[in-house]
Amino acid sequence: MEKNCLFCRIISGQAPAEFVYENDVVVVFKDIYPKAPVHLLIVPKKHIRSINELSETDREIVSEMILTAKEIAKKNLISTTGYKLFFNVERGGGQEIFHLHLHLIGGWI
Ligand code: AMP
Ligand code: ZN
Repeated sequence: MEKNCLFCRIISGQAPAEFVYENDVVVVFKDIYPKAPVHLLIVPKKHIRSINELSETDREIVSEMILTAKEIAKKNLISTTGYKLFFNVERGGGQEIFHLHLHLIGGWI
C-alpha cells in the first residue's frame, strides 16, 4: 500500500471506484474515462509500479491478471466478438497511474 497511489487507495476503499470483481490477488474496476463500450482495469492488490518493476516472484500475479481478464471478458459477453488487453509502460508508453494495471477494452461489435 502506497499512501500517495490512487489505485492503492481504491483497493483499500479510501477512494471510490466501480468494482466488478475482486479476489485475493486482483481487483477489477471500471475505467473512469472509458475509451470503449467496455473498459475495465485489472489491478493487482500488490503495489508494483509498472511492468519494468516486475520480479520473478510476481509470476502468479501476472498470470492471475491475464486469467481474470479472460473470465471478465466472458462475463461481459465480449469473448467471442473480441477485445484488447494492454499495458502502458512508463510515461513514454502512455502510463499515467504508476500502479500496474491491465486494460481490457472491447464491446464495439
Ligand atoms: P494508464 O494511462 O495506463 O496509466 O491508465 C490509467 C487509466 O486509469 C486511464 O485509462 C484513466 O482513465 C484511469 N483512471 C484514472 N483515474 C481513475 C479512477 N479514479 N477510477 C478509475 N479509473 C481511473
Ligand atoms: Zn499502488
